[in-house]
Amino acid sequence: METLDPILQPHFETVLARNPGEGEFHQAVLEVLESLGPVVRKHQHYVDEAVIERLCEPERQLIFRVPWTDDQGRVQINRAFRVEFNSALGPYKGGLRFHPSVYLGIVKFLGFEQIFKNALTGMPIGGGKGGSDFDPKGRSDAEVMRFCQSLMTELYRHLGEYTDVPAGDIGVGGREIGYLFGQYKRITNRYESGVLTGKGLSYGGSQVRTEATGYGTVFFTEEMLRLTGRSLSGRRVIVSGSGNVAIYAAQKAAELGAQVVACSDSSGYVVDEAGLDIALLKQVKEVDRARLSAYAEQRPDASYVAGGRVWDVPCEVALPCATQNELDADAAQALVTNGVLAVAEGANMPCTPDATRVFQEKGVLFAPGKAANAGGVATSALEMQQNASRDSWSFAHTEERLRDIMVGVHERCASAADEYGTPGNYVAGANISSFLQVADAMLSLGVV
Ligand code: NDP
Repeated sequence: METLDPILQPHFETVLARNPGEGEFHQAVLEVLESLGPVVRKHQHYVDEAVIERLCEPERQLIFRVPWTDDQGRVQINRAFRVEFNSALGPYKGGLRFHPSVYLGIVKFLGFEQIFKNALTGMPIGGGKGGSDFDPKGRSDAEVMRFCQSLMTELYRHLGEYTDVPAGDIGVGGREIGYLFGQYKRITNRYESGVLTGKGLSYGGSQVRTEATGYGTVFFTEEMLRLTGRSLSGRRVIVSGSGNVAIYAAQKAAELGAQVVACSDSSGYVVDEAGLDIALLKQVKEVDRARLSAYAEQRPDASYVAGGRVWDVPCEVALPCATQNELDADAAQALVTNGVLAVAEGANMPCTPDATRVFQEKGVLFAPGKAANAGGVATSALEMQQNASRDSWSFAHTEERLRDIMVGVHERCASAADEYGTPGNYVAGANISSFLQVADAMLSLGVV
């Protein structure tokens, strides 16, 4: 892992001073800047023309109150955010997260990552992110609907298919996107399908969008393994989380012949040596909206470990698919000791910088989230394409497009890493390749 080049040190100090208390944002910025030393040494004009400062300052940041009424008739107040980070490549694009931990620093870290991820897809989308500290867990459908309607009643004025296009993230799935789209349509009196992605198939959604982030993470992993003469077939795999990304990463890995033996939620993890029963997992998490422990109760040979760490389960491939900073150096060391070959981040920034360092020093293939999980937003862009042309593509065709896009993301990372003297370093490759694309577009557009 790189250290910060002295040329970039003052820029990082400015970020620290201008964004106090936003640790996740600092971490995301540092991870990118650490890769850019060789770039700014070769191309001084990126520093001279203040591209780094411009990139680290969001174009627009919105914070607003969301009042709503719960089922007992009590008024509840949440706080919501939308950070429109960078629109050099296209309309702001990035999900909404509903989780009690959401604050401005998390939204800015996610929005910053999104700029580079979206560039890596090769598609015309800028970077943004949003969310709220609303906790959907334990809330009725009617409460979730009222919350979503209230949030959209403020947010709609900032959105548009050519302006800002949200999607889902933690706590925001098909149900929430439906309520949000319904309210947008009602307020604006426009059936503007391309204003949100992750929509249901009955009203403008795309095949494969639900599966895309998890599938894409596995396609990227398969590509890393293929280039080192290996494959996923027959490998022992674990995923963390049991939400949208985790479920479909597990499903695609199993389809490619892997044995997916464990997954988790924030309360514990399940080990199922026979291979996870994906249909049961979907029933428990997506239909019943139950805790993961309910999976083990219905599967006699599986065991549930309350409060444990899924990273202690031996595996050859680990796919962290839950949340930021869920895998630390100690967990990384445990995975290495147990023989892990490849780690691909399905979640955003799930590995701490120290964990990433352990994997890189021990020669483990390591794919950062902005590359490995780019399949979700790429398929959102495919959804926008279908909406714009009033078309809808088959599952097989869309999955093929997704696979091609992930091979392209892999290729961009690998060749930038080679060109800048760090072959095999996907972190450096992802940051450099996407930075160059966004920075050149920004310079072409002038000081705006
Ligand atoms: P979901 O809400 O569907 O699932 C999240 C999963 O992560 C749940 O199993 C949840 O467990 C677990 N989790 C959430 N917060 C924590 C926490 N603080 N500690 C431990 N576990 C936690 O979200 P997604 O699957 O959509 O998103 C997962 C990750 O993937 C996020 O980092 C997201 O930003 C990223 N991502 C998602 C994309 C998408 O298309 N959905 C696209 C690209 C990246 P519990 O139920 O116990 O909270």
